[in-house]
Amino acid sequence: MARVSKGNKSSTVQFNLNFVYGCQKVSEGCVNCYIDRDPFAHGIERFKLPDAFSANKNGQRNVGDFNEESRLKELDKLPNGSWVFVNNVSDTFLSPPAITDEMRDRWLGYLADRPQYQFKLCTKRTGQMVAYFRTRKVPNNVWVGSTIENRKALELRLPLLLSIDTPNRWINFEPLLEDVSEGLSLKGISWACVGGETGSKYRPFRIDWAYKLYMIAQRDHVTFWFEGGNGKNESNRQRGSAFPRDRPEADSKRSDGEQTALFDSNKAVGTGA
Ligand code: SF4
Repeated sequence: MARVSKGNKSSTVQFNLNFVYGCQKVSEGCVNCYIDRDPFAHGIERFKLPDAFSANKNGQRNVGDFNEESRLKELDKLPNGSWVFVNNVSDTFLSPPAITDEMRDRWLGYLADRPQYQFKLCTKRTGQMVAYFRTRKVPNNVWVGSTIENRKALELRLPLLLSIDTPNRWINFEPLLEDVSEGLSLKGISWACVGGETGSKYRPFRIDWAYKLYMIAQRDHVTFWFEGGNGKNESNRQRGSAFPRDRPEADSKRSDGEQTALFDSNKAVGTGA
């Protein structure tokens, strides 16, 4: 197991490194996407997010670009050992023409060139992430992650995530929309982050869903972070303060070899988000 950096931290990362903004809604977790409901709070212009199935019909890009040079200048001011989230107002594995492999290659190069930081990638398009890394190495300081909001996403995305050749895999169980604990193994995962939906339209969240994931994380020696309950439900947030907010220690890499199939290996696994 990775060594754990303990302490009462306010956020999983110290910086959001954004190269693009805009996205397409692709699954249940996207319904109340925070960059759609309040884009200005995230430093981006109003950008109506299309549904994944209706977008890009005309082949136009549906994302905007930040100035990479200025983003990198900001990044380089961070102290060594900082954790950085990459593209939290988009999805790094959007299909072309929104985001191309050429862009991803350039960005991953920036990350690999900065071993003093740890970078979190997160996607709901896990199939595209698997396809991308099939012919590329995951840099040692990059943590590949998938959002898993419900059982459908779990069954689709977790086996895909486990197939990526790196010990640095994490899961974003946020917004958690139902109990996904039954039969779950987190072996092969280094970090599990859990939380309910935020915003005025938040959907129900139960603290026992988080508790069950916490127990599985304990059993499988997975670092656990509880982000909070949902929306205005302060009681859920407070009750959640009993859970840890731990990060894997930045310089700690787990030796792999524990990669296991979660479900019946005969079951068909699709690609995409
Ligand atoms: S993948 Fe993430 S950023 Fe994109 S629409 Fe869904 S929730 Fe929003």
